[in-house]
Amino acid sequence: ASTAPVAGLDAARLQISKTSSPKPKLAPESLVFGKSFTDHMLAIEWTAEHGWAAPQIKPYGPLMLDPASVVFHYAFECFEGMKAYRNKADEIRLFRPDKNMARLNASAERICLPQFDSEELIKLISEFVKLDKDWIPTDRGYSLYLRPTLIGTQPALGVGAPQNALLYVIASPVGPYYPTGFKAVRLEATDYAVRAWPGGAGNRKLGANYAPCIKAQREAASRGYQQNLWLFGPEGNITEAGTMNAFFVFKTPEGKRELVTAPLDGTILEGVTRDSILELARTRLDQNQWIISERYCTIAEVKAAAERGDLVEAFGAGTAAVVSPIKEIGWKEAAIFVPLQEGKECGELTEKVAEWIGDIQYGKDVHPWSALI
Ligand code: PMP
Repeated sequence: ASTAPVAGLDAARLQISKTSSPKPKLAPESLVFGKSFTDHMLAIEWTAEHGWAAPQIKPYGPLMLDPASVVFHYAFECFEGMKAYRNKADEIRLFRPDKNMARLNASAERICLPQFDSEELIKLISEFVKLDKDWIPTDRGYSLYLRPTLIGTQPALGVGAPQNALLYVIASPVGPYYPTGFKAVRLEATDYAVRAWPGGAGNRKLGANYAPCIKAQREAASRGYQQNLWLFGPEGNITEAGTMNAFFVFKTPEGKRELVTAPLDGTILEGVTRDSILELARTRLDQNQWIISERYCTIAEVKAAAERGDLVEAFGAGTAAVVSPIKEIGWKEAAIFVPLQEGKECGELTEKVAEWIGDIQYGKDVHPWSALI
């Protein structure tokens, strides 16, 4: 056995080989989410014996993997979704990257893939983003979507903890989720398929959580809904909206407003946007007027509130859109209608939250969540 120490992830060992054939950049208005990628990628190999190898930034290109690699057979894969934002002053920021790193480590831990020093990976991602920064349009709403991915690469069909892994990061320039203003969505409350369950792994960002959801999404789409509103359990607790966390605003009997989202009980992906909205709501909304709740909320409660006129607004929350307003929920042949502001496709808080977070992301509101790289 080797006596060399097992190496931790070390950004100081970064090796950079630049592309000799840069790709043409698409016009900002023709960007499609996740379809085009920048000139480079970041890649770091890991083995149980030696730990993390020297990180490499190299030209974007295909991976060469043994067909026996465990990622292809047993879904040893986890990933992240985060963004870099560039403004007119050519300042580039990452939004709460420490949260994405912590979540990736928690996902890796759940499927016996190696963990890493978060700060080192943030340094490496920052170098990568700076190298490819010309790919990020500077208009508000544009960003560079970053996809850190960790896979088990051991070429062996025995089922066990991988002894080889690859961590890589690719980057895709993206345009505004709503180029012409908010478009509220219709969701189908879904109890005919279950996204996550107690004791499972639905609170981790594993590729294996996503593929099984597409069949239900297609079913909902065939009935005219954009996404599923995932329910859980006999009471019909609302868990998430598609691949976003779900928020509801109710009028309370005391005449206050209550902002409600599901608690982190192991069945909810711990969204960075969710956490940010809760924190901003607790610090920026008038706490005499607002109750901020992480609690169970059933589809029946939403339906009853809507019927009484006590449902104020509803939205999904995630990195891609920040917030996505909901206008209707289909539930057992009935429609639950969610109010929208007069002449707008969203509620008041939805709009406010989008602006707060956008201002932080682009450095208009200088905030510790959005450090310059
Ligand atoms: N739930 C699921 C299932 C998701 O895939 C995502 C996107 N990562 C979210 C919620 C929102 O998380 P975040 O705010 O960190 O993007």
